[in-house]
Amino acid sequence: MISMTGVQKHFGDLHVLRDITLEVPVGQVVIVVGPSGSGKSTLCRTINRLEPVDEGVIRVDGRELPAEGKALAALRADVGMVFQSFNLFAHKTILENVMLAPVKVRKTGKSEARSRALELLDRVGIANQADKYPAQLSGGQQQRVAIARALAMSPKVMLFDEPTSALDPEMVSEVLDVMTSLARDGMTMLVVTHEMGFARKAGDRVLFMADGQIVEDTDPDSFFTAPKSDRARDFLGKIL
Ligand code: ATP
Ligand code: MG
Repeated sequence: MISMTGVQKHFGDLHVLRDITLEVPVGQVVIVVGPSGSGKSTLCRTINRLEPVDEGVIRVDGRELPAEGKALAALRADVGMVFQSFNLFAHKTILENVMLAPVKVRKTGKSEARSRALELLDRVGIANQADKYPAQLSGGQQQRVAIARALAMSPKVMLFDEPTSALDPEMVSEVLDVMTSLARDGMTMLVVTHEMGFARKAGDRVLFMADGQIVEDTDPDSFFTAPKSDRARDFLGKIL
């Protein structure tokens, strides 16, 4: 579903992604961990071309990333993304936030978009908040809206970049539960997170990044109990 071959990315003199080659099959949940600055967010952002790459090829569902224009917009619609900050539209209601992209980008009719949005809000457990504004919701609720909003485009892949790291501890599990249920339903997911419980429960695979490279690529239990590299052991020593 996601395929990266020989991807290189620099920011000026900084070599941020070093020859990344990666295949994520349909339905797989890949957890990405690694020290700050190792390139995890950049990796995510290249997949929907929020960051262009210097070299290499990225394919989503078999199609190479177009550089710009309508083809890029269509591909972006297939790749849902959820960030640490929720980025909801403050002056639109929860329901309007979820309906917006399907109506604008997919040209879905309003009544269809509305019933689909309500379905998704129900799925993430906040259908009863549909007419509120983002500021009236807790962080955990806002992040669940952000997930519903991404799902409204019927993406083929979901990318999550530290979706719970800005949340109060008591709200983390409500967001992880939604992500776990998505994973169980067969969504292809790439998730940057240091939530080990989630990684072990929902993840099929862990990528450990350091200095722009994938240093370990293994199953979650092996990674967290028996990391192979010194760098991974050192990293786990700091987060666990
Ligand atoms: P964190 O765990 O702190 O989120 P990360 O693994 O997500 O880190 P990235 O955000 O991908 O790391 O950043 C990788 C490197 O690239 C860092 O050294 C960062 O400072 C640098 N970097 C990221 N974005 C830019 C940018 N737009 N311009 C210049 N340098 C950047
Ligand atoms: Mg990051």
